[in-house]
Amino acid sequence: MDNLIFPFFSFLFGSVVGSFLNVCIHRLPRGESIIFPSSQCPYCNQTIRFYDNIPLLSYLILRGKCRFCGKPISPQYLIVEILSATFSLILFLKYPIWEYLIYFSFFSSLLVITFIDLKHQIIPDIISLPGIGIGFLSSFVLSRITYLDSFLGIALGGGILYGVALIYYLIMKTEGMGGGDIKLLAMIGAFLGSKAVLVTIFVSALIGSVVGLTIIVLKGKDRKYAIPFGPFLALGAIISLFWGNSLIAWYTNLMRW
Ligand SMILES: [Zn+2]
Repeated sequence: MDNLIFPFFSFLFGSVVGSFLNVCIHRLPRGESIIFPSSQCPYCNQTIRFYDNIPLLSYLILRGKCRFCGKPISPQYLIVEILSATFSLILFLKYPIWEYLIYFSFFSSLLVITFIDLKHQIIPDIISLPGIGIGFLSSFVLSRITYLDSFLGIALGGGILYGVALIYYLIMKTEGMGGGDIKLLAMIGAFLGSKAVLVTIFVSALIGSVVGLTIIVLKGKDRKYAIPFGPFLALGAIISLFWGNSLIAWYTNLMRW
């Protein structure tokens, strides 16, 4: 049993963090404080009781409805808590404690960015810019990246997307990719390094195109319909963190043939 207690706590810790991330997702785009006041129902403005604010459980006990007015609570709250708890556990099992805390912070910021970008089509600088600095400092602690590679990742991540955005702008005369995406990719480069940034761009562009085309086919949106790219960059970064090295090895092998 002993060896199950710490993993269990990492799952619990992740769910509590997820609850806080939900507050960030709701309040950061509105420019509200993420600490005060305590959460309220957006419909009836009743303050949510502490016993109705238990991660994972409360949503299930209340069956996704406000205790007071019965209006539905967005499933996003449960989804974010489940993702946060699950990845906290996975990262805890995979890395030593300091690296776990760093990668879990990285994952948490990607989660917040994803849901804010999906809702509002913005990536807040207040997350991505400090993220670049924190990622660079983390490279002195992380075993799989050197500070030089982190620096290269920032330059490459920021530079490549900036180049793509510039070319797109010159050809299409409208902005295709926001400055938010560029800063996000620089942050990803800071945490994961230069090779992983390339994997991230490749994977997110691939998944993004497939999803984009599917939406166009299904809904008949015109070509300029903007799908936020941030969630794909975040997904690409997670795939790169877990399978980046295998993907690079597979690709190198493929090129030898
Ligand atoms: Zn309510």
